[in-house]
Amino acid sequence: MNMLIGGEETASLDETWTEVINPATGVVLDHVPRGSAHDVDNAVESAQGAFDSWSKKTTRERGMVLCRAAELIRQQHTDLARLLTREQGKPLRESIDEVRGCANILEYYASIAGKPAGEAINLGSAGDCMVMREPLGVCGAIIPWNMPVIIMGWKIGPALLAGNTLVLKPASATPLTNLKIAGCMRDAGLPPGVLNVVTGPGETVGEAIVKHPLIRKISFTGDCATGYRIREMAAHQFKDITLELGGSDPMIVMADADLNRAVEGALRGRFYNAGQICTAVKRLYLDEKISTGFIKKLKDLSEGMKIGNGLTPGTDIGPLVSREQVDRMSSCMNRVREKDEGSILTGGCTLSGGEYDAGFFYKPTLITDVDPQSGLLTTEIFGPVLPIMTFPDLDTAIAEANRTRYGLGASIWTKDLSTVKRVYREVNAGIIWVNRHLMIPPEIPFGGMNESGIGRENGYHALESYSRTKTLFMGW
Ligand code: NDP
Repeated sequence: MNMLIGGEETASLDETWTEVINPATGVVLDHVPRGSAHDVDNAVESAQGAFDSWSKKTTRERGMVLCRAAELIRQQHTDLARLLTREQGKPLRESIDEVRGCANILEYYASIAGKPAGEAINLGSAGDCMVMREPLGVCGAIIPWNMPVIIMGWKIGPALLAGNTLVLKPASATPLTNLKIAGCMRDAGLPPGVLNVVTGPGETVGEAIVKHPLIRKISFTGDCATGYRIREMAAHQFKDITLELGGSDPMIVMADADLNRAVEGALRGRFYNAGQICTAVKRLYLDEKISTGFIKKLKDLSEGMKIGNGLTPGTDIGPLVSREQVDRMSSCMNRVREKDEGSILTGGCTLSGGEYDAGFFYKPTLITDVDPQSGLLTTEIFGPVLPIMTFPDLDTAIAEANRTRYGLGASIWTKDLSTVKRVYREVNAGIIWVNRHLMIPPEIPFGGMNESGIGRENGYHALESYSRTKTLFMGW
């Protein structure tokens, strides 16, 4: 498995390889080249060389390549999903959703290829104006390990349709399926040099992409601390940036909600992908009138979840992506115990015996009686841990939901439209779901407020963010 530069697979230039580990077994699955800044230079040169002809194609021609790639991804979805589960850990059915989701995104962008981009302005006797959109040039994309395939789709779909070329770095933990998807793009007829994948560490390959003077825009998804650093580096060259960072999404359940549906929503919203999702339910707020029964049901369901290798049929929760992520959960729970930040109702530990000893498994965890100052509420917990709070009225719920430096998503569970209206208007988040959480179809813009990031992915908004306007003023 090699890097893809200029559409060609190339061997590692420095003979150094990074191990990709199967988190369910702890065993090495494959190796990828540990790229260098020199590899990034080559990739950018290749992308720059391909830009002229790619940007001069019609959007319909570019859209047809995306469509063909989507078809190839669908044809290979079983193999791609199995590979994703083996490198990332998630249950196979979640991998299938993710791979198909990537194909959906590419098809969506192909479908809006004909949407008019630009405007004509009549300035009366002064003249007429045409405002056109043009691509930015070479763009850089940096992908995380939690949803690597869908996030790759979010970046390549709009960037390539808009006529840009790309240098893309997968996360070191999960590069394999990204490389296969890049292969589908090539096989779909994407010309050499339009999409270049460089594997390697964030501190070298990632930073070389961010700092390269020919790269005009960076789209990054990952940790807030990395996002701050990228923003600083990109500012020196006035690069455009899209940053999709962390979240601490509140889920608010009112007494009038469909409680069975809400319990399922909390379970899926927190434990899908073992909780490793930026917009997972990170804080659950329950109307105190219904909290006792709700918590009991949630506890029963979470204790009934089958934890194991994502390839084993019936698995509900796979391993975390790495030993490091397990260590993060363990130190978070140690802090909760030592500082008495809450009562661990269930979970709060790893599993042991058999396959659990080798893999990176962590039990679904529910915490009640949470100290309002606890780090569980103020920092992003990126794993299967759910703090549960109660509230006496909607004013309190909204105030608590907004007590965060993030602002990615939030959900309100109710049958009352006036409650929905208040939450939509008063809760600070890029998306407010009603009676669901975590659904992000390709059509809707996705991104955060405050420290959750800058810019939007998905939808027409993302397409615009990969282009700039240029105005023609005709003074007749
Ligand atoms: P990072 O932000 O470090 O990694 C995300 C991507 O950025 C990876 O491709 C990584 O490369 C790359 N990267 C790392 N450092 C740099 C850099 N200096 N310049 C450019 N690119 C860089 O997240 P982690 O993998 O370390 O995860 C840590 C925490 O981040 C998680 O526990 C979670 O809280 C949060 N996170 C949030 C995500 C989200 O969707 N909001 C996604 C993933 C993580 P490499 O893999 O080679 O290090």
